[in-house]
Amino acid sequence: MASVFVPQANPRASYHAHKQAIDEAIARVLASGSYILGEEAKNFEHEYARWVGTRRAVACASGTDAIALILRGLNIGANSTVVTVSHTAVATVAAVQMAGATPLLLDIESATYTMSPDELASVLAQPPRHLPEIRAVLAVHLYGQACDLTRILSICNAHGVSLIEDCAQAHGASFDGQKLGTFGRAAAFSFYPTKNLGALGDAGAVTTNDDQLADRIALLRQYGWRDRYVSAEPGVNSRLDELQAGVLRAKLPHVNDDNRRRQAIAAVYDAALESGTILRPVRRQGAVHVFHQYVVRSPERDWIQAWLQERGIASGIHYPVPVHQQPAFHGSAHLGPLQCRETERVCRSILSIPIYPELTDQQTASVSKALRELVSCSTPAQKRAGGGPL
Ligand SMILES: *Cc1c(COP(=O)(O)O)cnc(C)c1O
Repeated sequence: MASVFVPQANPRASYHAHKQAIDEAIARVLASGSYILGEEAKNFEHEYARWVGTRRAVACASGTDAIALILRGLNIGANSTVVTVSHTAVATVAAVQMAGATPLLLDIESATYTMSPDELASVLAQPPRHLPEIRAVLAVHLYGQACDLTRILSICNAHGVSLIEDCAQAHGASFDGQKLGTFGRAAAFSFYPTKNLGALGDAGAVTTNDDQLADRIALLRQYGWRDRYVSAEPGVNSRLDELQAGVLRAKLPHVNDDNRRRQAIAAVYDAALESGTILRPVRRQGAVHVFHQYVVRSPERDWIQAWLQERGIASGIHYPVPVHQQPAFHGSAHLGPLQCRETERVCRSILSIPIYPELTDQQTASVSKALRELVSCSTPAQKRAGGGPL
């Protein structure tokens, strides 16, 4: 038994790591008398846009809302199809439906778990005839690593379809030296507490270089008000509150260091898994991975998860059921020609090992030691089959 317990995620540790700055921000907001979309939110928008490298950031209530607001801002709703993946947080696809659009879910590349550019090329060249016009590609930078932006962007451009980035797991990640969230028409970020930049509640933001789109999304997030109490067009309530904005401003200066810590822990795990058959995360050429999750792959996943649990190490599965197989999406999510077969295989063999900046050196060592032991183990199934260790 390990002497240190290692949870799969630890948002409380993240609060304690930045306690003084967060407490000061909260006290400042409480004293200000302004609690929703005030100075803190405005300042956060400026600071976040500068950090990502876009002209604008528009804060809203969640990452899900950020995606739906981008789609609404681009008039992509009923009579539109949005192409995305099934191997993602359900939020990605739920947001497409919130906007009234039809989701078309593609399969993934087996090495990186992100959208298959080959399948994208084929659906844009030959759009399914029974679906509305394809208006956008919603690319998910999963686990902290860019999808194949070179090919996906060139395919989108060739067909005049907007690229929208789901950056909910990719704060600070880059591709070809350029930050994610700057490649498409607009990008959606989530600040759910366990994300690489996490609030102490729900929060989200849209980044874009398109001033008109940013202005429209800023209206849509508050009932479509141009002037107070007068809706210029139908909108929603997806405001950011000042407490979350203050917390995010306190934590933003530390995201780069936090991401470097995640990368250092990933390197320790990589070394521990160097021999053996457990697949480590593959780094895409030209991409800087920020390790929202450290995902390994093995056919013995369930056995490995139980083995780690016995040693006090929690792990997760992101995600156990592909979106197209979830009851809520039966009949409403459409699949591309690859029929998400790799997606269905992958979800049975992936495992997310704890990785977050607040993991102590002792916890990191304890996970690494367990991984080293693991690669010299044989599972009962392997023994029965007369095979070697993991
Ligand atoms: C977390 C997440 C979202 C949604 O963000 P919320 O803030 O929880 O609404 C969307 N897409 C992906 C890939 C996510 O991981």
